[in-house]
Amino acid sequence: MSDQRLKSVVIVGGGTAGWMTAAALAKTLAPQGLKITLVESEAIGTVGVGEATVPPILTFNAMLGLDERAFMRATKASFKLGIEFVDWGAIGETYHHPFGTFGLDVEGIKFHQVWRKFADQVGPIGDFNLTEAAARRWRFALPDPDPAKVMSSLKYAYHFDAGLYARFLRGFAEPRGVTRIEGRIASVAQHGETGFVEAVVLEDGRRIEGDFFVDCSGFRGLLIGQALGVPYQDWSRWLPNNRAVAIPCELGGDGLTPFTRATAREAGWQWRIPLQHRIGAGYVYSSHHIDDDRALDTLLANLDGRPTEDPNFLRFTPGRRERAWDRNVCAIGLSAGFIEPLESTSIHMIQAGITKLLALFPGNGVDPLETDEYNRLTAAQVDHIRDFVILHFKATQRDDTDYWRYLSSMTVPDSLARRMELFAQRGRWFPSNYDLFHETNWTAVLLGQGIIPEEWDPLVDSLPEDQIRQRLAGLSTLIARTAEAMPSHAEFVARYCGAAAPSSTSGVPA
Ligand SMILES: Cc1cc2nc3c(=O)[nH]c(=O)nc-3n(C[C@H](O)[C@H](O)[C@H](O)COP(=O)(O)OP(=O)(O)OC[C@H]3O[C@@H](n4cnc5c(N)ncnc54)[C@H](O)[C@@H]3O)c2cc1C
Repeated sequence: MSDQRLKSVVIVGGGTAGWMTAAALAKTLAPQGLKITLVESEAIGTVGVGEATVPPILTFNAMLGLDERAFMRATKASFKLGIEFVDWGAIGETYHHPFGTFGLDVEGIKFHQVWRKFADQVGPIGDFNLTEAAARRWRFALPDPDPAKVMSSLKYAYHFDAGLYARFLRGFAEPRGVTRIEGRIASVAQHGETGFVEAVVLEDGRRIEGDFFVDCSGFRGLLIGQALGVPYQDWSRWLPNNRAVAIPCELGGDGLTPFTRATAREAGWQWRIPLQHRIGAGYVYSSHHIDDDRALDTLLANLDGRPTEDPNFLRFTPGRRERAWDRNVCAIGLSAGFIEPLESTSIHMIQAGITKLLALFPGNGVDPLETDEYNRLTAAQVDHIRDFVILHFKATQRDDTDYWRYLSSMTVPDSLARRMELFAQRGRWFPSNYDLFHETNWTAVLLGQGIIPEEWDPLVDSLPEDQIRQRLAGLSTLIARTAEAMPSHAEFVARYCGAAAPSSTSGVPA
């Protein structure tokens, strides 16, 4: 059999997706002699947003062997313990979606089921989640690796400057053998019969050939969409937000909180992401319900400090490619699809794409069976995230604008309708292996958006009531004390990885 092992990979695009892919391939496959080339165009630039992450990013950074402090200093990062949702279920209501778990299961019975029975007597479920307890107090400390300690239950991700992250990863990838080529791709050369991509051709005529291509060209989908014609599934009927305006501003207001804040607005929602040197802010909205000028005015009226840049308007269509991998092209990043940034899932999907690509990296040529497997897993992962994000818009009592009236009355995918109904009846919830969001995530958002199970699991009634009540009281006290003992997030960041002077508003809530 002839040797059809891939000898060269070309990555098209140098945004977060391109450099994350380059770094991962440089770490794992460059030592085996794989030639890796990345093409990007400074004239086109990157999308320029994307600052909040989810906990699996720690695994990605660890796989590369990055030093956490150096990475956080270089990207001006802060810690993220979850998201604070303001005005979502109803105007005036606030809830947290924390990472980390709620309580402990009791004799195999889910904690939220036990909590549901005693909810009136023991307080909100967030009191049983150390990550939320720390977030609410604006405090932070690193988790304890000892699983016997309550501090082991704390989970975190980061807020960082995505542009600086890409630069940091470039500094990792280039010395490990990745060749960067600056230039604008003008055309794509394909095999006459198979349609396999053979080369990308730059405006100045340079031809960059490869055995395999990773399309990280952003919303354009230069290879996967424009060259190979893989269709895009449009999810606008469930996720009508199709625009965003982003403006970073000076660090002010509540300062360096260890959480992202998502505030629901009349026709969308506003993000607040605190970094060490500034706050990332933006309004994600539906152009069918509000125009650009009004969205910008709303954002400007609700900034924590003076803007540090001009507004960046973005347009997008929520959805995904029918196949992320087609022939010898694998799309990673925005070229593969985009679900609006409410739960900060895009960078995670880049990571998940890279992880699967490495796990299914072609041995002797591209194998359609393995390509199908990649696409099957990707579709399941993205569809799951889609459902989770739609939940935030569907489960609301808001009816103050056309936008919210549309969302609360829309028909959602069957998979989500089923989950909502199962939870609303008896708090039932079942995990699936490849899902990003687990029990804590769904429970936090379902309860936070006002879906309280009508009954609890009948198995809870077999537990001794007094003992359980005592146990719950003991646990919430332990969690509150542990959170109180942590330093403020601002202090911790300044000491651990400070890239700049701590903000004047550092500290804890009044
Ligand atoms: C409003 C908004 C907020 C977001 N917030 C978050 C968040 O909080 N968390 C999160 O995880 N994600 C977020 N995202 C998503 C995140 O920004 C992206 O997933 C991430 O930046 C990856 O983008 P990318 O690398 O795929 O594309 P891009 O950044 O667009 O990069 C594309 C690259 O391709 C190159 N390119 C394109 N065409 C050509 C050509 N013809 N020739 C040569 N090069 C070319 C460009 O130069 C660039 O280098 C957000 C997205 C939006 C729109």
